[in-house]
Amino acid sequence: MAEKEIKIVDTDSKGEHGENRCPQCGASDVTYNIKKKKLICNYCYTEFEAETVEGLEKDAKNLEGETRASGTKDIDQNANDMITLKCGGCGAEVVINTKEATNARCHWCRSILSINSQIENGAVPDVVLPFQLEKQEAQKNIEAFVEKRKFFANKTFRNEFTTKNIMGVYFPYMLVSAKAHGNFSGEGGHVARTYTITKKNSKGEEKEETVYDIDLYDVEREFDIAINDLTIESSQDKLNKRSKDRTTNVINAIMPFDTENCVKYKANYLAGYTSEKRDVNISNIEEKVDAELKDVSRHALNQDLKKYDAGVAWEKEDFEIKGKQWVSAYLPVWLYSYQDQKRVLHYVAVNARTGETMGSIPMNKAKLFFLSILFFLAGLLIPLLFNAEGEVVFGFALAGAIASLVFYGIKSSKYRNQGARHTYELETKNELSVLRRKDEETRTKRECSSSTIAGANNHYIAGESVKVQSNE
Ligand SMILES: [Zn+2]
Ligand SMILES: [Zn+2]
Repeated sequence: MAEKEIKIVDTDSKGEHGENRCPQCGASDVTYNIKKKKLICNYCYTEFEAETVEGLEKDAKNLEGETRASGTKDIDQNANDMITLKCGGCGAEVVINTKEATNARCHWCRSILSINSQIENGAVPDVVLPFQLEKQEAQKNIEAFVEKRKFFANKTFRNEFTTKNIMGVYFPYMLVSAKAHGNFSGEGGHVARTYTITKKNSKGEEKEETVYDIDLYDVEREFDIAINDLTIESSQDKLNKRSKDRTTNVINAIMPFDTENCVKYKANYLAGYTSEKRDVNISNIEEKVDAELKDVSRHALNQDLKKYDAGVAWEKEDFEIKGKQWVSAYLPVWLYSYQDQKRVLHYVAVNARTGETMGSIPMNKAKLFFLSILFFLAGLLIPLLFNAEGEVVFGFALAGAIASLVFYGIKSSKYRNQGARHTYELETKNELSVLRRKDEETRTKRECSSSTIAGANNHYIAGESVKVQSNE
């Protein structure tokens, strides 16, 4: 393949490293005010309208070739995280560790200094989505979430739980928009008739069985699709959603964000919040993103395949990305974290735009185990009370054992939420236009024991299992 031509859109504000003075009064103390949802000068109270980024495509339909906003450039591993700023207020030199923050107060004259222009270590993104949900609202959401999960919670956690120390964090993400052309073909099935037949089993006993007559079709869809702001974490730590010692999947689960309201990045938005530095380059996640874009398309196509209630088995899925745009963003999350005795880090995360909340609560496994066992014991004891014998005793014991396992499973999934994730394949905004359809009936398969055809894969997700490429 020929070398890809990449168009770079410069989103760098070219701001001088240093003070961001208020144009009205000259004060350096310009910060984001969550009540007003605006940047405001804390001295003269002038409010500033958020700036939008110019040169980026808002509608994926117009994308041609590959476009990258300048804030997505590869991180220079050797770049220094420590940046020295000269304070315009008093002339002192102030050092900022850009791993932790991109703004700070001058120790001497209290002027606020910030890094606005993009630096080689990737700490400055193209856009930011400011906090909207206030801390008190996030606290309420977290408390309500934990309250519902107190009974089986770990005792130390129950005693120590407080939302006083929750943190507002800007996490790094990549927003990817794309335009693609696809041509999928395969076999679709429609359940024409459902009925019961009588069959003899191996013991010679007659048994009723539900069966299906399925009409089979040759199916083909040729389509164009425009996908806006597929959102993917751009820190190794958050991309690792299967980690055993931290529950980062719950941070993934609070997506989506209203990314269409992102504004041009300014360090002033970060005052009072912490932020995490991006440590992932486009090349690390490109393969995963392409798989996810195809997943979004496969699921979008299902709207046009409703009559195939027995599923579609795609045999060929041609998918060509015609245009793609990468933007690096900071998105806002309220985060409660707790490390349990086994050093597992538990989080309750709140989307600071939508309020969506998800979390993982450390459990008192002994208590849960004990209560689960009670079901099993009940299964053993009840038949004794009624002097039951043989098969009945066995039946109750089995039912008790199953009930205890089910109880244990339901409770632990409610507390840990291991399976919680952002269903990007359904929630990512897209516009599908089907250019050509083929639906040709071929034959009817009678007395099928399943209502789904063999190999049905139109709900398949590939992106989740694509590994992130490491930087080394
Ligand atoms: Zn001012
Ligand atoms: Zn100073």
